[in-house]
Amino acid sequence: MNCESLADSGSVFFILSDRQPEGSLMSLSRRNFMIAAASTAALAGASVAGATSANAAASVTPAQALRRLERGNTRSANGNLKAKNYSPLASTPAKGQKPFAAILTCADSRTDPDFMFDMAPGNLFVVRNAGNCLESVGLGSLEFAAAALGVSVIAVIGHTECGAVIATEGSLKTGEMPGPHLDSFVDLISPAVEALPAGHSTQDAIAANASYQARQIQSRSSTIANLTATGDVGIVSGVYGLASGRVTWLQT
Ligand SMILES: [Zn+2]
Repeated sequence: MNCESLADSGSVFFILSDRQPEGSLMSLSRRNFMIAAASTAALAGASVAGATSANAAASVTPAQALRRLERGNTRSANGNLKAKNYSPLASTPAKGQKPFAAILTCADSRTDPDFMFDMAPGNLFVVRNAGNCLESVGLGSLEFAAAALGVSVIAVIGHTECGAVIATEGSLKTGEMPGPHLDSFVDLISPAVEALPAGHSTQDAIAANASYQARQIQSRSSTIANLTATGDVGIVSGVYGLASGRVTWLQT
């Protein structure tokens, strides 16, 4: 599993976009189509109406969104926080939200996406759980962020010293599961760890898990897959270093 910084991180967007779903060619903008679908389906309500309105003004490409995350992380890691200069694009929160990125990351108290990327509230749509696992509610949340809110990039961010990944490695070695509900994240992380060669490091497992969960988003959600196929949304993954404060982007 590669765990290297990318000189041109924009290239990662097209790794997942290669898998175009059937029927992906549409004359109508894919994003607009998804917005219309979301607005008329089960996601009806004031919040969606506001989100759709905000999305209509979406102005950043997936590559630009990733650059924004990269620059924010550099500021954060250098202790040069300027979050006050990056206020939400929606000037009045009650009128709706317009995040430019969705983040799936760990619930670990040492990882805070707004701090990690030096962003003010309103910029990041965040889904968190132990081990940054992709599960049904989280996937639905990411679909909402992509189709209705109009985020341009979805980033799965693992972190060094992740207890959920370490626990999964322990369960795979001993055959003992941690408990009825803790088992859920072990089950979701295990495929990523089991695919690694024997003797891999914990860091390898953490990186593999972030990449695996990112691929799961693409393979399990036709909504998001369609948006990546049209270039409206990019999916990336990375590992946040607790000691360095820096995100190392991965080849998903
Ligand atoms: Zn963790």
